[in-house]
Amino acid sequence: MTALKSVRGTRDLLPPETSLWNRIEATARAVFARYNFGEIRTPIFEDTSLFARGVGEETDIVSKEMYTWEDRARAQSEKSQSLTLRPENTAGVVRAYIEHKLGETGQLQKLYYIGPQFRRERPQKGRYRQFWQIGAEVIGPPSAGSESPLRDAEILEMLATFLDALGIAGSTLDLNSVGSAADRARYNDVLRAALVPLAPKMCADCRRRAVTNPLRVLDCKVPEDQPIIETLPKIGDSLGDDSRAHFVQVTAALDAAGVPYRLHPRLVRGLDYYTRTTFEFTHGGLGAQNALLGGGRYDGLSEAIGGPKAPGIGFAMGLDRLVLTLQAQEAERKTAPKADGYIAPLGENLNAPALALARELRRAGLTIELGDGSFRLKKSFEAAEKTALRIVILGEDELSSGMLTVKDFASGIQTKVPRSDLTRMLAEPSRS
Ligand code: ATP
Ligand code: MG
Repeated sequence: MTALKSVRGTRDLLPPETSLWNRIEATARAVFARYNFGEIRTPIFEDTSLFARGVGEETDIVSKEMYTWEDRARAQSEKSQSLTLRPENTAGVVRAYIEHKLGETGQLQKLYYIGPQFRRERPQKGRYRQFWQIGAEVIGPPSAGSESPLRDAEILEMLATFLDALGIAGSTLDLNSVGSAADRARYNDVLRAALVPLAPKMCADCRRRAVTNPLRVLDCKVPEDQPIIETLPKIGDSLGDDSRAHFVQVTAALDAAGVPYRLHPRLVRGLDYYTRTTFEFTHGGLGAQNALLGGGRYDGLSEAIGGPKAPGIGFAMGLDRLVLTLQAQEAERKTAPKADGYIAPLGENLNAPALALARELRRAGLTIELGDGSFRLKKSFEAAEKTALRIVILGEDELSSGMLTVKDFASGIQTKVPRSDLTRMLAEPSRS
């Protein structure tokens, strides 16, 4: 029989890589908590119409990337229903905000999520069919200050802080404003007119979008279309006074906080309901899939899916791409994380005391690998050197005398250490 494999575009995440995933998730939780965000977990599948309305029919996501199926009724009393694996999480969060009447608290809701998303894309480096996002949303009634430019600036400052905390160096924040719904409608008309002579020279998607939703032409990734896109009118010139003033306040707050950014007049991002501020953080080390995260304001989204007026702003980061970026940085530094110690019992009769010792050290907070007494000493040393900074040898003599033999692999030094001193010694940085 042929062995089954994971489905194209999906993958297994294994140790030691998963420790990096855990570190990124833990950093996100810790940083977001300082800004008083709480976690939300929404279902992995939703009614298809949520995404059609909440992401937009004309977007790449809805028009070609969703995993959608007809869920058959199991009883006469049930109806069959079109369901979709979530391709993103903002629509689900806003649905939950409406469903649980979170707006009625009168408070801003500050919610973050961590979870898998699904899109039928062409798999390549940094692009998978099941991928992970960490995202956050600030949403609430206008009376709670949800439209304030300070919320936009705070979210961007939080992201800069998060990337710093992770140790990601060299990312760039691109920033733009796409204005209010009215500004966008005006700009769409300007674009539609400008595209009449140009669209016939563009890709099939752009020819269609030029008529149905000209703004989406700016999302086009086809290289040959980019020089044409460069000549199109800029949305900044279609902004009304309110949108302009809002954006000026966002950038002024970023300047005051010392968060660097670059103005990017053609950044519109993939969702139809984005208004005003839109942004993206990119990283040069990622190659073609260089977007680490994207986000923006979506003042009309709640109403588009049948809810009350609830302006909001949020972002979604590609966890897979954060991992790739950190792996590339760590490969440069050549430091794979290792356990603090490896306990090598000399003989199977020492397995039980070795477990007791491992328990003692782990309870003190150390990361410990536990070997096996059936291994010959040479095999123990080989296994230990691959996985840990030091080896701790536990033989009959060590057990009765309470003096353990410890070898530090980086320095090559072997010492005798009293058991009472072992925790402190293993916690010291190895001399590499
Ligand atoms: P891209 O331009 O890379 O297609 P997008 O505009 O489709 O991105 P968003 O929908 O804004 O992306 O999602 C936010 C982030 O999620 C992206 O910046 C990226 O880091 C990540 N992401 C999106 N699609 C994928 C995917 N198929 N595989 C891995 N990460 C992804
Ligand atoms: Mg995409």
